[in-house]
Amino acid sequence: MPGGAERPRPRGYHGRAVKRYHVTTFGCQMNAHDSERIKGMLEELGLGEAPDQAEADVLVFNTCTIREKPDQRFAAHLAQARALKERNEGTVIAVGGCYAEAQRERLFELYPFVDVAFGPGTIPHLGDWLGAGGDGVARAQFGIAEERSFAGTLPMHRERRFQGWVQVSMGCNSKCAYCIVPRVRGREVSRRPGDIVAEVTRLAGEGVREITLLGQNVNSWGRDLAPDLRTDFGELLRATDAVDGIARIRFTSPHPKDFRDPVIAALADCDAVCEHVHLPLQSGATRILKAMRRTYDRDRYLRLVDKLRAAVPDLALGTDIIVGFPGETEDDFAETLAVVEEVRYDSAYTFVFSPRAGTEAATMPDPVPEDVKRDRIERLIELVQRIAAERNADRIGRVEQVLVEGASRTDASLLRGRTRRNTTVNFAGSVRPGDLVDVRIEAATSTTLKGTEAALVAA
Ligand code: SAM
Ligand code: SF4
Repeated sequence: MPGGAERPRPRGYHGRAVKRYHVTTFGCQMNAHDSERIKGMLEELGLGEAPDQAEADVLVFNTCTIREKPDQRFAAHLAQARALKERNEGTVIAVGGCYAEAQRERLFELYPFVDVAFGPGTIPHLGDWLGAGGDGVARAQFGIAEERSFAGTLPMHRERRFQGWVQVSMGCNSKCAYCIVPRVRGREVSRRPGDIVAEVTRLAGEGVREITLLGQNVNSWGRDLAPDLRTDFGELLRATDAVDGIARIRFTSPHPKDFRDPVIAALADCDAVCEHVHLPLQSGATRILKAMRRTYDRDRYLRLVDKLRAAVPDLALGTDIIVGFPGETEDDFAETLAVVEEVRYDSAYTFVFSPRAGTEAATMPDPVPEDVKRDRIERLIELVQRIAAERNADRIGRVEQVLVEGASRTDASLLRGRTRRNTTVNFAGSVRPGDLVDVRIEAATSTTLKGTEAALVAA
């Protein structure tokens, strides 16, 4: 501003006719999807989106409680929100998601400046707590709803017009000893197949090319449905594959125990289902898997990998691994490294075990010292990255189909997209976001590929 004069605030900053919201998301894809619904709901209530927190009248934090890191990030964000509220009294702070649910008794005590809190599964009722246009906030209230319900029919603010997430189930019936999800998201409830296919059909009509079916335990979908609707996840893949216009189907997160033969057969048969499976291992030691209550052992997991690879040639595999679960010895950890060597994953999310209050593992004896956990995760990451780099280097010289997502994050002269095997590609090309294009791969790192649009190479 010339002369350093203070920039006049836009009229009404906080007294603006249309209030504005800002949503900050932590955690998994399920949360990212919930945030799109939260945004859609807020827009339905008459609010507009603010470019950043400082400009917003309603600050929403959609939280996660799986990992420690996002919790710390969340605390930093809350401190900033509090400062904003001190400057602008009318600011509303809403906290949703898993952390809010886990801390519902203590949330307002811990953070008295929070106005509204709500758990996952109660997004459809957001308007009841925020009021139309963000006015009429019921302060210091935890938003509970009589029944958890699917957000499938709610308005949605999609981040990308050609990609859509479709929630197929909520909750989880497993009892993994380290996991807070069953407590905060409840028992598994499957959405009716007709409703799912109707949503996918609608999305296809709106120009969506790629869908991701979402559930905490996505491939156990269907088992709790009424007897006349009972079916399995393989049938759901087939039904969505049959929807015209959907070129790619992904799904997350599956549990190894629920990859039954009909599901594997559907993976092999359905053209739109991508050659990528996320197959959480958690540990390579049968002893630890048992303590984790994962219900499979090392050998069963490896047999499943063989079956999947036999059914889907050129399959990319991702995984989740936890190091430092209580009682994990150096030998147990060596077994995890051995499984990683044997499977050769294309990608892996690695976690240091962190006790979550209310889970079985939080009170288990024999915790692994922090420095040992650190050392193990570093060795694991090194191995995962070496193998991923080798797997990606194998793609050099091939042509991969890429769904274009936008400009490259590292080089604005390049485009960015994803292969069917779910690897990010930065490439030279003249196509637009949403296009499906063949790209010749020319270089690779452990996380990305680089190439040129095949039509340009041929020209
Ligand atoms: N439902 C999915 C599944 O079963 O794979 C996802 C669960 S969670 C959102 C994603 C990953 O976080 C898990 O697969 C696990 O590796 C990790 N995780 C969960 N609880 C953890 C904890 N207490 N400490 C460290 N990692 C944890
Ligand atoms: Fe958590 Fe296990 Fe359920 Fe995944 S399957 S959400 S890790 S309890």
